[in-house]
Amino acid sequence: MTTATAERIPFFPSDLFEGDREALLDTVHAIGTGADQKFILGERTAGLERALREGLGADDVVACSSGTSALTLVLTAMDVGPGDEVVVPAFGCAPLAATAANRGARPVFADIDPLALTADPAAAEALITERTKALMPAHMFSVMADMPGFRALADRYGLRLVEDSAVAQGGTLRGRPAGRWGDAGVYSFVQVKTFGMPGEGGAVVTDDRALAADVRMLRNHGQDGVHRFRHHRVGYNSRFDEVMAAFQLHRLAGLPGRLARRAEIGAYYSERFASLADQGIVAPPVGGDGRCHYVYAVLAERREALVDHLAAHGVDSHVYYPRTLPEQPAFAHYAADGVRPLHAESAARRNLALPLYPHLSDAQVEHIADTVCAFARSQDRDR
Ligand SMILES: *Cc1c(COP(=O)(O)O)cnc(C)c1O
Repeated sequence: MTTATAERIPFFPSDLFEGDREALLDTVHAIGTGADQKFILGERTAGLERALREGLGADDVVACSSGTSALTLVLTAMDVGPGDEVVVPAFGCAPLAATAANRGARPVFADIDPLALTADPAAAEALITERTKALMPAHMFSVMADMPGFRALADRYGLRLVEDSAVAQGGTLRGRPAGRWGDAGVYSFVQVKTFGMPGEGGAVVTDDRALAADVRMLRNHGQDGVHRFRHHRVGYNSRFDEVMAAFQLHRLAGLPGRLARRAEIGAYYSERFASLADQGIVAPPVGGDGRCHYVYAVLAERREALVDHLAAHGVDSHVYYPRTLPEQPAFAHYAADGVRPLHAESAARRNLALPLYPHLSDAQVEHIADTVCAFARSQDRDR
């Protein structure tokens, strides 16, 4: 065994925030012993919102309690409710369908592009009815959705465009940041995301000031921030934590460097895997425009065998979405009878994510790539 295999390479590393431990503990102490004991929605949250807004060139950023909650606040501010339909990807995470459903609306599942794995605008267009209120594409793994296509579609049909950029903070497409293509975009700060933190949080990004004002009210029980205990709308508790805001402000300067390291690892994997398609392993193309670097997922015909092979060589891997959203018991009754999203089903059967985080060493990255390539070669021999 080489040295790289002696140590297990976890998929979710337990030392993500090790380098910032002191800063976090100091922050907890400072806020916990501060004169005003302000643990939520204080000056640190406002500071994080300002820093993100300025970095993005957006009119407003509203921090809230999670990415899921950010989607809920946006859909609520857009008055999405009973009788409405929201077109979402058939392949993706539960919040895409659940946030629409919890508003009383119907999630409508669009098939995906077979390589990008993001919702296909043409498939989405075929599902538009007079009840459609919003389109909600999502960026997936390391590829941004076809936002120019969705922007044009939303404009053509007069629909709201919600950009689920929960995984894509830091990505850009045609020079425009992920989160800036929709009428509103959302980010998630849950630990594994590109700007993750040790807790729950998210944000809404928008140039629509009226929408932002609504989202701001809705995140704190419909209050306007001026008159306490005056509730203008039926809202939520989706407030942001001051300790996390301070921690994110502390981590913000290092984000470009961490994103660059993720991109470098992703590009290396793609170079190594470019020739494996004939052996049943399809990788995303080497990076560039419209890429984000949240998760590096390949599509593998013999996924279970690849999982075992990786594990035998000390590499943990992860299947994100083993079934499509319309195949989930919770959402099956929203699916249209007899219409199966075949590309989404194929991706659900084959997707496998490899470790991708900034503090992976070059030797670890090489070992992971070597292990995948050795598996592919053994497939060739077995044929
Ligand atoms: C993570 C994620 C969310 C939800 O974010 P949370 O902060 O976990 O609530 C929503 N959409 C997508 C595409 C995600 O990956």
